[in-house]
Amino acid sequence: MLANLTRQPSVLAAALLAWYPRHHRDLPWRRTRDPYAIWLSEVILQQTRVAQGLPYYEAFLAAYPTVQALARAPEQEVLRLWQGLGYYSRARNMHHTAQQVVQEYDGLFPTTYAGLLKLRGVGPYTAAAIASFAFGEAVAVLDGNVYRVLARIFGLHSDIAAPASRKEFQALADQHIPASTPADFNQAIMEFGALQCTPARPDCLFCPLQHSCWAFQHGQVALLPVKSKAKAARVRYLHYLVLRHGEAMYLKKRGAKDIWQGLYDFAVVETAGLKLGAAEVLRHVEALGGRLDTRLAAEPGPPPLLKHVLSHQKLEARFHTVWLAGALPATALADTGLRAYSPAEIEALPKPQLIANYLGKN
Ligand code: SF4
Repeated sequence: MLANLTRQPSVLAAALLAWYPRHHRDLPWRRTRDPYAIWLSEVILQQTRVAQGLPYYEAFLAAYPTVQALARAPEQEVLRLWQGLGYYSRARNMHHTAQQVVQEYDGLFPTTYAGLLKLRGVGPYTAAAIASFAFGEAVAVLDGNVYRVLARIFGLHSDIAAPASRKEFQALADQHIPASTPADFNQAIMEFGALQCTPARPDCLFCPLQHSCWAFQHGQVALLPVKSKAKAARVRYLHYLVLRHGEAMYLKKRGAKDIWQGLYDFAVVETAGLKLGAAEVLRHVEALGGRLDTRLAAEPGPPPLLKHVLSHQKLEARFHTVWLAGALPATALADTGLRAYSPAEIEALPKPQLIANYLGKN
């Protein structure tokens, strides 16, 4: 009975399309059909709350009003504007994609789902969002909100973390998207998941789909969607050597093989635990050819500890301030990539939020 009601393609769509105009939030990327602005908003909003992403969207559009402007910008400038959003590979991919659109597509985004998928860093979700919002193609978006709404309404128990489930959910969503208003349907189902059918406290009491919702009718709202747990995050212990000489601090650009590629941080020693004694700090400084300024070397109390959580890692970082009596030798700079930066230069560098937090407090 329930399934019959909601499996009619128009029933779910009609309910969502009626709900959407009365409840949706007025957000700037919903007022445009410019594929560049839509793409920008989608990249920024991945793994980011709307309230956090909104100022970044506005800042990026103000700094780079066109895809050409973004393509021309130095990567360092793009990363600096992105600072604080995390997942920096998104920013680097976004920059590359802008260059790809300019160089290979004459500055014009492909106008179909299939064409958009050929762009670097553009996956099925983003391609569907741009294809439907900018070009009116009837292809359904599938994000966490859509998975949840569909799993609950249709009583789907497939693990949404398993890649194999995507086909099942995509087929269902594609079955319901109306050819005449695909953009509205996609916006509506995502907004419905964000505001009404929320993860922890869905508003079932005032839900227009209550009578035809499998999970509500079977008392399984809290059990759906099924999502297997991600692996426990790895804990890493980082000891930053904040090498200072006069006004300057030594920083380096991070390489490709670890987190934060292209961002700047201090010389770092990674250990198996949280402790690194003063003697060991000194040994590392001497290995860099640094000489302590003994008048300033002693710091009262333990070095500051900051914790930072990434998607698969938990970082515990201690910051050991080291005052140097002279500049580091050129060989050490060449070997490590460290360079002395003035406070104004450091301000302009793109940095991981952990480093920005430390600098903000010290
Ligand atoms: S009744 Fe509850 S669980 Fe079902 S769609 Fe509505 S808000 Fe979601």
